[in-house]
Amino acid sequence: MNKGKTILVVGSIAIDTLETPMGIRNDILGGSASFFSVAASLLAPIKMVGVVGGDYPEKGRDMFLSRGINIENVQVADGKTFRWGGRYSDDYLLRDTLFTELGVFGSFSPEIKADDRHSPFVFLGNIQPSLQLKVADLMISPEYIISDTMNLWIDLFPEKLNDVIKKSDVFLINQEEAEQLSGTADVFTASKIFLEMGPDVIVIKMGADGSFLAQKNKNVFVPAYPIEKLIDPTGAGDSFAGGFVGCLSKQPVPNFIESVICGSAMASFCVEGFGLESLMCASHKQLAARIDKIKGSMAEATAI
Ligand code: AMP
Repeated sequence: MNKGKTILVVGSIAIDTLETPMGIRNDILGGSASFFSVAASLLAPIKMVGVVGGDYPEKGRDMFLSRGINIENVQVADGKTFRWGGRYSDDYLLRDTLFTELGVFGSFSPEIKADDRHSPFVFLGNIQPSLQLKVADLMISPEYIISDTMNLWIDLFPEKLNDVIKKSDVFLINQEEAEQLSGTADVFTASKIFLEMGPDVIVIKMGADGSFLAQKNKNVFVPAYPIEKLIDPTGAGDSFAGGFVGCLSKQPVPNFIESVICGSAMASFCVEGFGLESLMCASHKQLAARIDKIKGSMAEATAI
């Protein structure tokens, strides 16, 4: 299968503890950069930027290498790996953060090898906005800067986050966080506010309700893939982003609807298992089948 253009990603590389209605998992591999990279590596060459502590398990490194992910810009620092704990409500509609321990991310200063600074696609995954900005500033003439964030960073550093959004060509955000950042629950109005800040494209992710794609003169709803059994939604947003950017990096002419459909299909694998386990098993063939199914349901909806 043809691979897309190289994508450089910065984000968290984490050890997660998850409590879901389907069970509890302690100390499993996670982090926004990890989900993004595993998802996008099905479609494009990936270079990860980040940091782990001495406690980061060897199996994480092996997992990235098994996907051909370049980890030369991932530093190993003295201290603890980023750790995050989350608990889902019985209906999965709510998620409480139990703890966020920045560990080595607290004092991280990204460094990127000279050649890698020319990567055409840059994904600024969920992490402190100041680190997203540092990585954006280290890059040399990228074709696309795509960014994402999370509630903690909206609370702590709204101004720095605004600077990240201004620098981005595409801004992805989930629905609750879009409301938190824009002050409106209406996705049309929220995306208009974000478009005025600079990006040409906004994608608001709405979980099982699909996603909303907004450009200056075009808005489209894309449905989610109907999965059989929800196990763990952690990382769905980052996997969506991996599918979206991976697909975009392969297109001679950007097709954002196609990229959102691919993001939606990719996210559907993630939620079928704990952490990264299900995403790691997704094949090109299964991805193509899920993309076709989403397209089919969109065609049916337009025909009605
Ligand atoms: P998602 O479910 O797409 O929001 O992503 C969940 C992943 O993001 C988990 O694997 C966490 O380790 C990671 N994460 C949670 N909170 C943060 C944060 N504040 N900054 C960076 N990564 C985070």
